[in-house]
Amino acid sequence: MSAYELTGPILADEDVVVGRAWVVGGRMTYEKPRHTDVVRVDGWVLPGFVDMHCHLSVGPAGLVEGDQIVKHAVIERDAGVLLLRDTGAAGSLDALVGREDLPKVMRSGRFIARPKRYLKGYAVEVEPGHLVAEAATQARASGDWVKIIADWIDRDLGDDADLTPLWADAELADAVAAAHSEGGRVTAHTFATESLDGLLGAGIDSIEHGTGMTAAHMERAAAAGIPVVPTLLQVANFASFAALAEERFPVFAARMQRMYERRYVQVGAMHDAGVTLLVGTDAGTSVAHGDLAREAAEMATCMPAAEVVAAATWRARRFLGAPVLAEGDPADLVLLRVDPREDISALSAPSGIMMRGLPVL
Ligand SMILES: [Zn+2]
Repeated sequence: MSAYELTGPILADEDVVVGRAWVVGGRMTYEKPRHTDVVRVDGWVLPGFVDMHCHLSVGPAGLVEGDQIVKHAVIERDAGVLLLRDTGAAGSLDALVGREDLPKVMRSGRFIARPKRYLKGYAVEVEPGHLVAEAATQARASGDWVKIIADWIDRDLGDDADLTPLWADAELADAVAAAHSEGGRVTAHTFATESLDGLLGAGIDSIEHGTGMTAAHMERAAAAGIPVVPTLLQVANFASFAALAEERFPVFAARMQRMYERRYVQVGAMHDAGVTLLVGTDAGTSVAHGDLAREAAEMATCMPAAEVVAAATWRARRFLGAPVLAEGDPADLVLLRVDPREDISALSAPSGIMMRGLPVL
């Protein structure tokens, strides 16, 4: 395995900039090795990007399997995403097992929803009363995260159809506790305001979308250190969801339209409230795989670019318990031509990518 000299600067951790580093045996070192035959690599160095919200088993046309799942992982890798959290699978992700050439994937098992209360065919559907057992099952299956759909349109309400919570607060709390006792962590899909007291009260570990969070919810999430993944590329679709629903479900449509219009203000308010924001694309049907840089650019319209870079790298890694670029850490890194804290668009054009010390790009 070749050794490399990184001429830097190396953004090893938030507020840790090092002038030079080496990659030896696939790992980072800040001590000059004795090798004389090191390959010199120029550029700003960051830890591999983290997509906190991604669905590898979902593509533009819907659910996929096997090789297509692998193809999505390759697209993410080639965009510099070397660690991702799959926030809900429709089936098995076993095609990724043992693939050292692919990004590390933290799984969430299958989506958990109620019948008719999520995208058809995507979720394990259980009636109220069965969420607790299913959360434990999915925690065991994923060995990691669990993904609960907390709210969705209730079409049975007819003209009054709107987003409503799927679960009673007490059941949600028991489900989170059950997943925790299996060693899992829990995240939830939430667009609505009405789910958030229940989620925050349950001790949820992270929140997806969070479009319905009020100032009080933001304050609570900030105080508890619960991160939010605002998925702005997905929320940009709310206007089209509203347009499609306008005739049959006017109440729902009006709410989706309001949240669409407020989306940048909402994320800015979360940031100002001190909520930890992490970068997630929600890649699947309506957002393409490999779009992390575009999501980051959206977030940078609401908060400083340096914070977005942190949210896509060090902060996400720390939250997930993954290494950054400290001495001895695996050399999972991205090379950029300019400092992305000055120009967020730099994230979209890596000049190099290294995974476990091997060049990918
Ligand atoms: Zn999603």
